[in-house]
Amino acid sequence: MDHSFIYTGNPARILFGSGKAAQLGEEIRRLGASRALLLSTPFQKTDVEAIAGTLGDLAAGVFAETTMHTPVEVTEKALSVYAASGADCLVAFGGGSTIGLGKALAYRNDAPQIVIATTYAGSEVTPILGQTERGVKTTVRGPSILPETVIYDPDLTHGLPVAMSITSGLNAIAHAVEGLYAQDRNPIASMMALEGIHALKLALPAIAGNPGDAAPRSNALYGSWLCGTVLGMVGMALHHKICHTLGGSFDLPHAETHAVMLPHTVAYTEKAVPDLLASVARLFGAPTAGEALYDFSAALGAPMSLKALGLSLDDLDRAAELATTNPYWNPRPVERQAIRDLLQRAWSGSRPD
Ligand code: NAD
Repeated sequence: MDHSFIYTGNPARILFGSGKAAQLGEEIRRLGASRALLLSTPFQKTDVEAIAGTLGDLAAGVFAETTMHTPVEVTEKALSVYAASGADCLVAFGGGSTIGLGKALAYRNDAPQIVIATTYAGSEVTPILGQTERGVKTTVRGPSILPETVIYDPDLTHGLPVAMSITSGLNAIAHAVEGLYAQDRNPIASMMALEGIHALKLALPAIAGNPGDAAPRSNALYGSWLCGTVLGMVGMALHHKICHTLGGSFDLPHAETHAVMLPHTVAYTEKAVPDLLASVARLFGAPTAGEALYDFSAALGAPMSLKALGLSLDDLDRAAELATTNPYWNPRPVERQAIRDLLQRAWSGSRPD
């Protein structure tokens, strides 16, 4: 273990377990609030309306127009709906996109937030907001961005399609893996990271085999909470930088991009810090963490190549250029040609080097 570290936890109230969403009304009152604006995507509108229906007077309304990448125009529209509805708190029901909208509102009006998380992306436990203005995605941090309360009710995740469950779960594992070699890593974050990876390692194959089975759904959500907490606690490195570049500048899908890139970025970094990733290799019973994650993804039927996600071979030079400009700190120095080679392998889906 590291014998010198700084630990800063993010305060949050976490309710975890089957049926916990039924406590939403109590949690609204607990925040000292009495009128919640509920947020979702159009796809989850029926579900969020059903939840609003159970709240009675505690529901001020539903805004179900969340889109991906948190565009500022949608945030501004939701801000006026919030003000007009007389709401005094937010309930975000969904994945990272809906949670992003809730955070964008709270960043502007300091509204208290409750999140009911339905994917494994982990945004609900981070003080980080990514938002898009005129096509440019930027990131801000701040205390008002961190949701006050998170409800993890695995019953609400049974409908997450298998393919999304797998890529979202691999997205969560990526937070944990980068947490293990973060510059500001600490023993608590590392414990959470390993426990989170372990939970997802058990859960994802079981979900793929039987998506409606309650136990693996619960285990996956538990793992995603731990991995998300790591993301909120310590700095991310090369892997997240490359994924932000591919998502932001080439419009590749978020979770799928994490899934494809993870074995390659891990293999790259592992050469510099094999000791920090040995626990992951051991957990999977593989010689290296990079190989372990590649084989795990392949066995799950996850997307394995950037080509399959629609990236053109001609884009790789520019992707390498962007990914190595203002790089995040990484234990292995980020070198342009090496990253270009890494992207080539990820593009074709070959085994990491
Ligand atoms: P998402 O929120 O975009 O959801 C994808 C689709 O799945 C949506 O249509 C959604 O309604 C649907 N969905 C969600 N839960 C479902 C369920 N249980 N059953 C069926 N459908 C469901 O996807 P995501 O991967 O959760 O989030 C991605 C976004 O979150 C990205 O923009 C990413 O940048 C952001 N993110 C931010 C942070 C942070 O800390 N700021 C962390 C992780 C992700």
